[in-house]
Amino acid sequence: MEPEEFRQAAHALVDWVADFRLRVGELPVRSRVVPGEVASALPAAPPEAPEDFTAFLADLDRVIVPGITHVQHPGHFAWFPANASLASVLGDIAAAGLGALGLSWQSAPALTELEQVVCDWARQLCGLSDRWQGTITDGASTATLVALLAAREKVTGGSGRAGGLQAEDRPLTVYCSADAHSSVPKAALLAGYGSDNLRLVPVTRPGRAMDVQALEAALAADVAGGRRPAAVVATAGTTATTAFDPLAEVCEVASRYGAWVHVDAAMAGSAMLLPEQRPLFEGIEGAWSLCWNPHKWLGSVLETSLFYVKHPEDLVNVMATDPSYLRSARDGSVVQYRDWGLPLGRRFRALRLWGLLRLEGAEAIRARLRRDLANARRLEGLVREAADWEVVAPVSLQTVCVRHVPAGLAGPALEQHTQAWCEAVNLSGVGHVTAALLDGSWMVRVSIGAEPTQWEHVERLWRRMQEEAAREA
Ligand SMILES: *Cc1c(COP(=O)(O)O)cnc(C)c1O
Repeated sequence: MEPEEFRQAAHALVDWVADFRLRVGELPVRSRVVPGEVASALPAAPPEAPEDFTAFLADLDRVIVPGITHVQHPGHFAWFPANASLASVLGDIAAAGLGALGLSWQSAPALTELEQVVCDWARQLCGLSDRWQGTITDGASTATLVALLAAREKVTGGSGRAGGLQAEDRPLTVYCSADAHSSVPKAALLAGYGSDNLRLVPVTRPGRAMDVQALEAALAADVAGGRRPAAVVATAGTTATTAFDPLAEVCEVASRYGAWVHVDAAMAGSAMLLPEQRPLFEGIEGAWSLCWNPHKWLGSVLETSLFYVKHPEDLVNVMATDPSYLRSARDGSVVQYRDWGLPLGRRFRALRLWGLLRLEGAEAIRARLRRDLANARRLEGLVREAADWEVVAPVSLQTVCVRHVPAGLAGPALEQHTQAWCEAVNLSGVGHVTAALLDGSWMVRVSIGAEPTQWEHVERLWRRMQEEAAREA
């Protein structure tokens, strides 16, 4: 495609994106396609001859849009907010258009240095000290895996360079709360610790924070049993209920055992932009690494996850490579992000966050986050007042966990009722919420914070929840 042809098509595509965002609120939130429907609407064989751009655009409308559950919809209350702010989209378009190749500082100096700058801007916005240095990964799962790999090498003095974990005389152990994200057990497995060496520390009730006494007991028992604690992953904002582990106490206990502390703040990290919410993160400075996803609530296009460490050499010691074809005279005086993580070639990810922060400004972003917190508190109030409704976990940020418990309904019938009204809400197309298990019992999470969601949309969802729950009861 030549630049002039691109210019025309891209103008049409930008118009299409803007129109999509204007009308997305009229579409059903949850995709109604059945498995295989999208694939069967497309030719099985690739085209030999070029097709017209209008056909490409038409298929976006015909096949792709109906095949998406719309998280940019004001009725999106499922999972977590996954805002792709249009300001960030502009940065992503620039990144694709530049087509820069991040292999080394020399291959795209601006790619490396803008990443350093936006990581530092985000650090400042979060009120974190200048001891932290950041990089952008695709997601929190990757950041947590990298943290556990670095922890493994740190506590063994670099086992991977020799016999690896197989040569260790004591098994290494990892700790997280029973409510930690599934990416933590996955990372422990992938980093070679073994599932038998992962301790799921119980949580307190009703707050669902990691029980620090239980953590300490588990650490002591493992040391007594001839094992070596390597890492504690603390969660700031759990997936089910947005609960916060007590970071200061976790760091204090872990440091006595020489264990690396990684903080998973994937969803809730955005709240650090609000000074009044920072007490939830009290003690985070004592951690060794932390991650949070601006691609969730904040508004950066997906695959913008911030990963901070205090000592980048802990990463470089494990992950540095030095192939001859990437050497340059600048090595040694510049950051080589390939040595901070798994991939070699990287995209110009920083442009998405740069676009968001520059074109929205921190003040407007903070105002939007505060709007969402106020909407969550307002919904919590309505649910608490309503007959037969319960708020089943403390509302720490923007997630409201509820259950409808009509008189006389309990046990399996209540479980079935919860899933039934949740599914009815989702089928309605008006809103999309998530059913999740809490201590073995179903509840429904209302995760507020889609960029276009105003109070009227929350109110509309709440009315629908009540109607469907009454119908199903
Ligand atoms: C979303 C989330 C994750 C997973 O993040 P990815 O970027 O999808 O890998 C991990 N932990 C918590 C607490 C989360 O909210």
